[in-house]
Amino acid sequence: MSLTDPLAHAARLRADYTGEAYPACRVRLAPQPHGARLIPDAESEQQRLEHHLLTAIARPFRWTRLPFGISHLEPARALTLHLDDSAERVRDILSWTLPWADPDDSDGEVHGIAGLRLSDWRHGRVSLTVPDTDAKVVLAGLTAATWNTALGAYHANLTEIPHARLYWQTDPTAVTAHEADSTARWEHDDDHRGWWLASGLLRRTPLFASTAGPVHTEAWSYPARPGVEWVMEVVCTRPSRTHQEIVTALTHPRAGLPLRLTGLDCHCGQDQPRSCTVRLAAAPGHFGSLRLMFNPRAYPGMQEQRPAVRRRASTRRPAGGR
Ligand SMILES: [Zn+2]
Repeated sequence: MSLTDPLAHAARLRADYTGEAYPACRVRLAPQPHGARLIPDAESEQQRLEHHLLTAIARPFRWTRLPFGISHLEPARALTLHLDDSAERVRDILSWTLPWADPDDSDGEVHGIAGLRLSDWRHGRVSLTVPDTDAKVVLAGLTAATWNTALGAYHANLTEIPHARLYWQTDPTAVTAHEADSTARWEHDDDHRGWWLASGLLRRTPLFASTAGPVHTEAWSYPARPGVEWVMEVVCTRPSRTHQEIVTALTHPRAGLPLRLTGLDCHCGQDQPRSCTVRLAAAPGHFGSLRLMFNPRAYPGMQEQRPAVRRRASTRRPAGGR
């Protein structure tokens, strides 16, 4: 592998973002024209699905071995997420995403992602799709035992609700009237302006991994500006990358997002660990902002894994710190 081989360089770079193996990155990038984006952007309805998926899976508090329980991913026209083979994690994802409604609920709310449909498990994969679009997210890396346990546990919860309407099991080619009403009620005409950011972050999840797991990765957008002002908090004792490395990756011209750094508030190395905050704003022509928070808390019950020798308070750290 030559150091001057542009394909080798591009494949190594892509692997950092997606967690894919280097040879797989080479195969996927080889047919692309020189200078093409290394992490393909999702388009319209695919972006929308990924925006809703990140909103659903990143919000509730869960510690996982990997960010969002994703080991690696394959970004293409569709998105394939390889999950930790954990029934608990998969059940969580199903419960936060699959649409259903309780007819006795006075609010008439659709829970989960309205319009989402689920394919049958096959060879370790299931697909999440949206009728009348070609949007698709594949959940991969699941054994039959994991899948059956996860889906069975989720079903068992819903059978306690009499007459629950399980929309994800209905016609895969049509959205029900109730789901269409719910979408019209909660989605605003200009929401699409912020979809690129959630989709772009989801497609780069492995950047937020930890070298001392587990990790808690949570992301949310402000209700006043849903999907536009995002906050992502990574809680772990040792992120795999420094803050500066993550900023450099997220703003990289070929593999990053149209973001620029606007602020960094770092407390690494201080006696009392505090959250560090990185602020990024959308580049001109794009809409939205991102606040990254790095919180050095340890997993409850996990023995603190800090270096034996503490740095002197006067030790200077490079700009950006950890
Ligand atoms: Zn810091």
